[in-house]
Amino acid sequence: MSGFPTRDATSGTAEFGRPGSPRGYAASMRRPCLRAPFRIARVLILLLVVPLAGPRAFAWGNEGHRIIGTIATSSMDEAVLKEVRDLLGEMTIADACVWADEIRSDRRYDWVKPLHYINVPRNAERILLERDGEDGQQIVSAIVKYRDVLKDRSKPREERVEALKLVMHFVGDVHQPLHVSYKDDLGGNRLALTAFGRKSNLHRAWDTDLIQRRLKDTKGGWATMSADLRETIKPDQRRQWSASLEPIAWANESLATTRRIYAALPKGPGDIDDAYYREWMPTVNERLQAAGVRLALMLNEALGPGTKKSSSKGADSSDPAAVPEGGAGAPAAPSDATPAPAPSRAPPADSGSSRRNRGHSPRRRHRGCRSRHARTARPSHSR
Ligand SMILES: [Zn+2]
Repeated sequence: MSGFPTRDATSGTAEFGRPGSPRGYAASMRRPCLRAPFRIARVLILLLVVPLAGPRAFAWGNEGHRIIGTIATSSMDEAVLKEVRDLLGEMTIADACVWADEIRSDRRYDWVKPLHYINVPRNAERILLERDGEDGQQIVSAIVKYRDVLKDRSKPREERVEALKLVMHFVGDVHQPLHVSYKDDLGGNRLALTAFGRKSNLHRAWDTDLIQRRLKDTKGGWATMSADLRETIKPDQRRQWSASLEPIAWANESLATTRRIYAALPKGPGDIDDAYYREWMPTVNERLQAAGVRLALMLNEALGPGTKKSSSKGADSSDPAAVPEGGAGAPAAPSDATPAPAPSRAPPADSGSSRRNRGHSPRRRHRGCRSRHARTARPSHSR
């Protein structure tokens, strides 16, 4: 029995691999007139192509973000959901949540790459933007900046659509603990280990392996997992996660979880195994749930009635009331950050990127989010 999501699980997403080519190939192989050299050539082509397409379905970057988007959909105000869908056009909400991963091979979007995460010193117990802010080139400032672009209805529509897709992705990322972690091991990418019998690393385990382990037990794949998570959010959790709409508070929760993850690193044979899964999967679930609830709240706040003006409140809020009493999976540290510049941006010449990237290649999408960061971020991040 496959441990991975089925095609049924992702039906309804426009871009998921369709079996047309393999069927076409199989049919052609039955044609009596097809000569041997052609058959051999086609087999060779298939052998080259199939392994590249295969891993796409197994990316946490995709599954996790889609789950978050689906959870958020159920908590959005009706009018907000309508506007989100109107802004996205033909793109689904689940697709929009992974768009920021789709554009990573497009050099015009290199400016997005450092915005998926934030680094902190090893001994840091909380984020200080004057120390960790990277002149605004990190996820906390990015969420605030693009939330405000989305909120500002005087901005061009294309700019707001792009901001919407960035917010939908980054709110997910900031809830993945290892997107708020350490530069020296590239957010756990350099921490090699085995996960469920396969070579992996700490970051990949949290991006991909744990959720795939869960999907192994989830008939229906990520869509079913989304429904399961959405339906098991308790009222007190929803209240707790709604206590703050400040991304720095969410990031501080992730940092607290990262510290716990590093304090309990698996060592030795098996590394990440079913015992680790049983211990940490509740945390993964809570981070996905919290991200979905908060994405909805942020969009409700940004697009709801009476919020047509850009917010003056930034990622650097030092309002103690903005910090929740408890976090998702970990307690939030107090926020005492100071203002940091918003992310700088070199817009691509053609901002109609949603259309351009709708037909993305499976090959480009199978790597974990932080792995991408590791390869592409500016030198100061080295990832
Ligand atoms: Zn990301």
